Amino acid sequence: MSIKKLQWSTSIFWAILSALFITIFANFTMFAKANIWLIGSGSSPLYIVVLALFQFLLLLFFIALLTMHKGHRHVLAIFYFAAAFSAYFADSYGVIIDKDMLINAAETNVAEALGLLSWRLIFYFTFLFALPVFVIYKVKIILQPARKRILYHSGVALLSIVSLIITFFASSNFLTSFFREQKQVFSYSNPLSTLYATYQFTHKTFSSRKLFKHIGDDSHILEPFEDPELVILVVGETARADRFSLNSYRKNTNPLLSSESVVSFNNVSSCGTSTRISVPCMFSIEGKDKFELSKFKDEENFLDVAKKAGVNILWRDNNSSSKGVANRVTYEDFLTPQNNPICDQECRDIGMLSGLDDYISKQKKSDILIVLHQMGSHGPAYFERTPESFQKFKPYCKTNQLDQCTNEEISNAYDNTILYTDFFLSEVVKFLKKYDDRYETAMIYVSDHGESLGEHGIYLHGMPYFMASKDVTNVPLILWFGEDLIKSQNIDMNLLKQKTNKPISHDYIFHTLLGIFDIKTDIYKKEKDLMFFGIKR
Ligand SMILES: [Zn+2]
Repeated sequence: MSIKKLQWSTSIFWAILSALFITIFANFTMFAKANIWLIGSGSSPLYIVVLALFQFLLLLFFIALLTMHKGHRHVLAIFYFAAAFSAYFADSYGVIIDKDMLINAAETNVAEALGLLSWRLIFYFTFLFALPVFVIYKVKIILQPARKRILYHSGVALLSIVSLIITFFASSNFLTSFFREQKQVFSYSNPLSTLYATYQFTHKTFSSRKLFKHIGDDSHILEPFEDPELVILVVGETARADRFSLNSYRKNTNPLLSSESVVSFNNVSSCGTSTRISVPCMFSIEGKDKFELSKFKDEENFLDVAKKAGVNILWRDNNSSSKGVANRVTYEDFLTPQNNPICDQECRDIGMLSGLDDYISKQKKSDILIVLHQMGSHGPAYFERTPESFQKFKPYCKTNQLDQCTNEEISNAYDNTILYTDFFLSEVVKFLKKYDDRYETAMIYVSDHGESLGEHGIYLHGMPYFMASKDVTNVPLILWFGEDLIKSQNIDMNLLKQKTNKPISHDYIFHTLLGIFDIKTDIYKKEKDLMFFGIKR
């Protein structure tokens, strides 16, 4: 029988076959890397099947949707080409085809390109591209009526996405740990990561750069007779509000802060469910409803406004980065022992306080904002976030493989990180108290997002906002004001403490900071300034 006579072959049949072929033959590197991790972490090697299924369903979803029209052969050819291309580079060099790789490739000259030619490359292109594409163009594929085609293709796409969700939840313990720890393995997912990189590359190349947007150009400070402000804003990491005993948690996770005169808001919504979104968003004028990450880098944020008004700003980072917030102010990396004097297995948040007296004395009594970006409670290796002396809640989970610990062990490991943050924040307050006679001092602590600790079988964070539980979106926000600030702004602390149940959000940070620094500008919204919750009207 010649392949021309395969009368049953339809576009959806070739879509399914292609997804299967590419999953099996073009993803060796991803499976090999995953296998090494599985062996190293003592997980069952059977999880490879889960990963393969995950890869197949994801690929099928895209192929089914994109091949429901008459030109479906060309789309399949593009998939095979991308698969051959990235499988060759991944299997030969362990290279991931990302946006930067494509930028490099576009700048490669002919000689360099010829230097890559090899028998191996020819083999990959023959087997993974030329051969399957030849068959697809050669066989007779019955073109069903449009309605039928659309029905079949969307049906298969829907079925694959539903199966994908079921697979995800059925093995969420494993998959969440795996994706968090082994994100880079997933970037070998072929050819989806390459096609995505191509999209990013063309988008970056062809979209014209937007104009940089300025905000608060009218900002200025009127306070010739008062003391200057010294504010420390602590940007927390992965702390959830309900694990603070200040917010009525049953375990005593705030033994130190509870003896300070702090105000803890317990009904605060985060802007996003990840550091990447929440950190820029809390400094953005747009607020939760209008914030778009893609626009953030092209517009000014709170730090720019404060700088224009004359505030000296220092950002110290013991997390991954400022996510673009501190691009135009003084930035110091505290993940490295070169800057951070308190490092054991890792550099500790408390190290960010060292040398600050020196910095303050150099600013000659002008307004100062210091932002400290914590490592905080970043998971899943919670146990690594605290020195031994803070591992008070026991037994605690001692691995990043959360599926190997009980919920109680995970909870204890997590609560120990809150205990350490309690210590860190109380040291910030102690530090500020030294300056109370010369500065109007304040500390604001707010976490970027919370964390799922196994509730409903979900771990970590980063789910789309509408799917995320309160564990992830309800963040702690704690204020401490020095006597000098309380007096000059006429704040009634008891009145303020009565308002801590009020539903608020990350949007309040922007305006509260404008208020504390007495920055006059049209973009200031008094109703979103937390200080005014404590001022009688
Ligand atoms: Zn975060």
